Amino acid sequence: MYNAKNSTIRDWLQKLPKNYRLALRLLVALLIAVISNILISSWFDTPKMASIRRQNQRLKAEYSILQGKIRSAEHLLADIKHRDQFVYRPLLGIDTLNIPQVYSEYNDSKYASFQGGEYSEIITEGWKSLDQLTRSIYYASLSLDDTQDLAENKEEFSTVIPAIWPIDRTKLKNVSSLYGMRVHPRYGYWKMHEGIDLSAPKGTPVYATGNAVVTRSSWQPGYGQLIELNHGFGYKTRYGHLSKRYVSPGDSVTRGQVIGEVGNTGVSSGSHLHYEVRFRDKTVNPIHYFNKDMSPESYMDLMNQLDNSTQNN
Ligand SMILES: [Zn+2]
Repeated sequence: MYNAKNSTIRDWLQKLPKNYRLALRLLVALLIAVISNILISSWFDTPKMASIRRQNQRLKAEYSILQGKIRSAEHLLADIKHRDQFVYRPLLGIDTLNIPQVYSEYNDSKYASFQGGEYSEIITEGWKSLDQLTRSIYYASLSLDDTQDLAENKEEFSTVIPAIWPIDRTKLKNVSSLYGMRVHPRYGYWKMHEGIDLSAPKGTPVYATGNAVVTRSSWQPGYGQLIELNHGFGYKTRYGHLSKRYVSPGDSVTRGQVIGEVGNTGVSSGSHLHYEVRFRDKTVNPIHYFNKDMSPESYMDLMNQLDNSTQNN
């Protein structure tokens, strides 16, 4: 039956005009060529595919060189940041610039368009490090402006910066509470202590710790009788629980000037001065601002006390 069918096809072909037979043969040849081309190219690379593949490999290699360059730029910036933080700022006696958002990562959705491809991971990583680098540069430039500003006005700065003890240390009974987290003596729960508590007899004179303008002199919840001074350059100091205030808002005061007296007003158990140093409206540890009239030994004593109090809590 198979042979019979075969011969029928041959008969049918014989009957066709010569031109038709030729066209049919060409068509079959073309069909075979197309199919074999598809099969071969799926097993082996066509020259074009091979060239694209080579190009991809080269791009990948160049990309990793680029990432290496980003990493070395990151190291350079980290070094600059370190010097800024541990050399220039301490030299000028200023606190670390604190911009929390600068180092928070962007949301992953920012890189969503890179997802799905063969190289999406390396591209996303590259973009992330570049974004990180941009933010670090932004931070470094802000910090540089800051320190440059201060270096230029160093003379004025040195007179306004809070730099002495706010009371005569011979009157100091003890440092009853340091800056940092503590169990609140009155409320009994964990709370940030935003300043340092200096126990001294009622009536002990309180000094302005740097040249400043008085911005507050009034009773405030918690603080009791409070004086706040604005020193400029982002610095403010607060003196709480006073028994007497000698200055009014708008007054100019100089370092060492008596502005009030130690007391026990507001939320306070016992006569003491609550002293706060603020930089850009955030409190900082006042201990770092006693340097002008503090020997290295007493500074170490205070720091040890701070360590112990942290351990005890
Ligand atoms: Zn306090």
